[in-house]
Amino acid sequence: MNEKLALFGGHKSLKKTPPFYNPIGEEEISAVNRVLQSGVLSDFIGANGVKFYGGEQVRGFEKSFAEYCGVKHAVSVNSLTSGLICAIGAIGVEPGDEVIVPPWTMSASATCILVWNAIPVFADIDEQSFNISLAAIKQKLSSRTRAIVVPSIFGNPAELDAIVAFAKQNKLYVIEDAAQAPGTIYKNHYVGTWGDIGGFSFNYHKHVHCGEGGICVTNDDRLAERMRLIRNHAEAVISDRKEGEDAAELVNMIGFNFRLGEMEAAIAREQLKKMDILVERRFELAQRLNRGLADLPGLHLPWPQADASHAYYVYGMRLENLPIAKARLIEALTAEGVPGLGARYVNIHMYAMYQRKIAYGSSGFPWSVAQHPELTDYSAGSCPVAEKLNRETYIGLALCQYDFTDGWIDQIISAFHKVWNNFEALSDE
Ligand SMILES: *Cc1c(COP(=O)(O)O)cnc(C)c1O
Repeated sequence: MNEKLALFGGHKSLKKTPPFYNPIGEEEISAVNRVLQSGVLSDFIGANGVKFYGGEQVRGFEKSFAEYCGVKHAVSVNSLTSGLICAIGAIGVEPGDEVIVPPWTMSASATCILVWNAIPVFADIDEQSFNISLAAIKQKLSSRTRAIVVPSIFGNPAELDAIVAFAKQNKLYVIEDAAQAPGTIYKNHYVGTWGDIGGFSFNYHKHVHCGEGGICVTNDDRLAERMRLIRNHAEAVISDRKEGEDAAELVNMIGFNFRLGEMEAAIAREQLKKMDILVERRFELAQRLNRGLADLPGLHLPWPQADASHAYYVYGMRLENLPIAKARLIEALTAEGVPGLGARYVNIHMYAMYQRKIAYGSSGFPWSVAQHPELTDYSAGSCPVAEKLNRETYIGLALCQYDFTDGWIDQIISAFHKVWNNFEALSDE
């Protein structure tokens, strides 16, 4: 006799909801208090001079983060959305240039391209890794391609060595969106340090957070300085620089105010000290899930790659030939009390803005200047793998949303087993 599903009035596998994930402790509280007491909540000035580079906390955070990653420069920003805008601006693109990006990522991975009037060209993802597929990138390459935005989605490193090699051959920049993969190693190097620029996010929902914030890393002096200019009112600053000096060129030098505050930077400095522990903990929880769910037929699990770690921002699974529909499965697991379950991720190309090609004004700019309209076909079916995952085969568990313990994970494992034992009852209904 199978145990009765909660969906049909049986007992729930999880009696309670786990508490929310909260990595903020006394250290962060004291750090913020020190900043507040100093009265200097931001120490940036939008003019040349030492304060162009921000205050003590901002610069201290950037130094620690660069050291952590083993890179020359870290440029903090008030979000990674801002950071990605800095990154695309720093490499310099012409209106109508193309930048390749997967559809299975947060929307900002692609809007950073549109901000500079360049055109996002979506390359489909790999069904196993959920990451951008090199084969798909190759299909989307054209004479106008300038860069590839490469997220390591859910914290699983993308095929960075092969993508970077391909980019070099074709003189393309690689911008890594490492928002979900902090402190994650791929073939002996941190995710985020493979590309020309890599970006991390510290928004409230990420492994480590400071409210809102982000940082971009690079080993390139020129790209770093251009990002600092875009972060801080480039157009007002650059006139005072000597011709030919570092970034004193005017291409894509519209600046913004993307500056990180001192309080956020102070929190981020403390969070950085805890980052390895917090990320490692997600890894352990995920391996517990992997072991506990390994024998369920039709469920593909996110095992780590042989030569890489994994940050498990999301524990992403794929269903194959289940006797019940995905919606039914989610319904049954949710009734068992499994929290943070997602049935879909994102298919950016399906957003109305892309479907209707309305970004600036009403006449389709920047797509109206696209040279390869065939590559900017965002119709349904243009990224079949990502679309099928959302429609039929993907389910994910948000591991950074709740403060899971081994005990909670074991209850989730029980819930899955219980549901798997009751497929017959679920399909009868
Ligand atoms: C969170 C996230 C971002 C944006 O970061 P913000 O700091 O919220 O702007 C970009 N890309 C990915 C993949 C993300 O998960």
